[in-house]
Amino acid sequence: MTILIVGGGPNGLMLACELRLSGVPAIVLEQLPERSNQPKANGMVGQVVRLMDHRGLHERVGAPVPMRVPRFMFGALPLELDRLADNPITILPVPQRRLEQMLEERALELGAEIRRGHEVISFEQDETQVVVQVRGPEGEYEMRTPFLVGADGAASVVRKEAGIDFPGVTNVDTVTRSAHVSLPDGAVVDGALDVPGFGRIGNTAFTRTERGVFVYSQFEPGRPMINTTEWSSSEPADDVPMTVAELRASIHRVLGADVPIGEPEHPGPNLLRRLAGRNTRIAERFRAGRVFLVGDAAHVHSAMGGPGLNLGLQDVANLGWKLAAAVKGWAPDGLLDTYESERRPLAERVVMHSMAQSALVAPGPEVTALRELFEELLRDESTLRHVAETMAGSDVRYLSGDHPLVGRFLPDIPLADGRIAELMRSGRPVLLDFAGVDVPEGWRDRVDVVAVRSPAAPAGAVLVRPDGYVAWAGDDVHNGLPESLAMWFGTPKHMAVTP
Ligand SMILES: Cc1cc2nc3c(=O)[nH]c(=O)nc-3n(C[C@H](O)[C@H](O)[C@H](O)COP(=O)(O)OP(=O)(O)OC[C@H]3O[C@@H](n4cnc5c(N)ncnc54)[C@H](O)[C@@H]3O)c2cc1C
Repeated sequence: MTILIVGGGPNGLMLACELRLSGVPAIVLEQLPERSNQPKANGMVGQVVRLMDHRGLHERVGAPVPMRVPRFMFGALPLELDRLADNPITILPVPQRRLEQMLEERALELGAEIRRGHEVISFEQDETQVVVQVRGPEGEYEMRTPFLVGADGAASVVRKEAGIDFPGVTNVDTVTRSAHVSLPDGAVVDGALDVPGFGRIGNTAFTRTERGVFVYSQFEPGRPMINTTEWSSSEPADDVPMTVAELRASIHRVLGADVPIGEPEHPGPNLLRRLAGRNTRIAERFRAGRVFLVGDAAHVHSAMGGPGLNLGLQDVANLGWKLAAAVKGWAPDGLLDTYESERRPLAERVVMHSMAQSALVAPGPEVTALRELFEELLRDESTLRHVAETMAGSDVRYLSGDHPLVGRFLPDIPLADGRIAELMRSGRPVLLDFAGVDVPEGWRDRVDVVAVRSPAAPAGAVLVRPDGYVAWAGDDVHNGLPESLAMWFGTPKHMAVTP
C-alpha cells in the first residue's frame, strides 16, 4: 500500500515526510537525476512557518523559533506590522535548495524512498488502484498504488493525464528580469542600496515608479540580487539569452538612474532570468478519483509576497494524514473530499491577493491614486490586520464551531513547560487536555492525549488535527468532542473496561 508521489520539489518531499510520520510507505518519483540547484524561493511567509515548527523542521534549517517580522509589504506598500499586538506574519528565510535538501534528508530518515531520474509518463486508474508508467534509467516500468499524488509543478503531467483543466489568466503585459549580481564597494550603506540620483533603497523593499518595479535584495550575505518588472517593454526573443547588461538597461528605464551592477562573484548557480508574462491559474479540480494535486501542480500565481510555499506545504499537511487514514482503513466517509473543500478557498485567496498586489504596482496615475487611498486605509489597524492575515493565510477557517479556535491553525499558546509546537512533532492528532478532562477512550489508538498546563488555557481541552488545525475546543467534552473525533478520525474502537 505504497503511495506514489510524482515530483521531488519541496511539496513532494514534504508529503513523503508526512506520510512516513503517519506510518504509510511512500515513494517519490523525480525526473531529475540530481536535486535542482536553481535559485527559486528565498524563504517562507505565513502560517507554514508554524507548521514547520510543529514538525521540528524549523530548527533543522537553523532557526530556533518562528520569527514575527515588524514590517512587510503588500503591493510595494509598507505594512507596519509592529502596530499589531497579534501580528500574524512569521517568516523563515531559507533558500529553496537548502529547504529541499533538509526535506530530503528528513524523508529518507523517516524511511521514504526517493527515486531520482524516474519520470512519470502516464497512468490509468480504476476503482481500486492507479497503474503508473515510469521511465527510469534502466528503461520503462510499471507501478501500482492506491493513491497517486501530483507534486510535479506548474506543468504537471499528472494534472494533464488526469484530464484536469487549468483555467485562469496569462498576463502578457509584463517582463520580469532577475539576477544575482555584484555591486561595487560603497554601493550598500547601512544595508540599503545607495543609488546616486535616486536615493536609498532598502533590502527586499519593492520600489514602484511610473515605469516599473525595482527590488534589491540580499538574502544571503555577499550575494546581492536585483529584480525589475516592466510593463510593455519590448523584450528580446525567448532564444536571446538574458544578460546582466540587459538587466542594467532595464534598471535605468525603471529608476531613471544607474546601478553599477556587474557579473556575480558567487560560484553559483546564479539566478539570471527573463520572464515574459505571468500565469495565474487554479486547477479545475484538486482530485480525480485516486489522483490528487498539491502545490504548483494545483495553482500558480505571482510570487509577490512569497505565498507559494505557504500554500503548497499546507496543501501537503492537509492531504497527508487524510491519505494515511484512507490507507490504514479508518478514514471516515468524505474525509478525502475535504482536501479540496478546505484548500481551494486558500488558493483562491492567494490568487486574489497576488493579483491585487500586481495591480497596485502597475504604472499609471490611476494606480498612483489607488495606492494613496490604500496607504490611507492601511493606517487603520483593522485593515492592516485584515491584509496581514490574508498574506499569512490565517484569514480562512476550515470549519466553524462554537469556540473561536475551531477551524483555525493552533495558536502559540504559552505553556508552563516547553512550547506547544513540541507537542505536535509526531504528526498524529493530539487532544490537549488543559483541565484534566474526562477524555473519550475509543480513539486512543489514533489520537494522542497530552496533559498540559498553561497560564492562558483557551479551553478545557483542544483537539488538534495533524496539520495543526483545531477540530474542536471547549470545556465540556460531552458537548461535541465525540462527534468531532468521529468526523475526523473515524468510528471509536471498543475499549475493554478494566474493573
Ligand atoms: C524565482 C522564484 C522565486 C520564488 N520565490 C518564492 C518565495 O520567496 N517564497 C515562496 O513561498 N515561494 C516562492 N516561489 C514559489 C516556489 O518556488 C514554488 O511554489 C515551489 O517550488 C513549488 O513546489 P512544488 O514542489 O509544488 O513544485 P516544483 O518545485 O516545481 O517541483 C516539481 C518537481 O517535479 C518534478 N517533475 C515534474 N514532472 C515530473 C514527472 N513527469 N515525473 C517525475 N518528476 C517530475 C520536477 O523535476 C520538480 O523537481 C518562487 C518561485 C520562483 C520560480
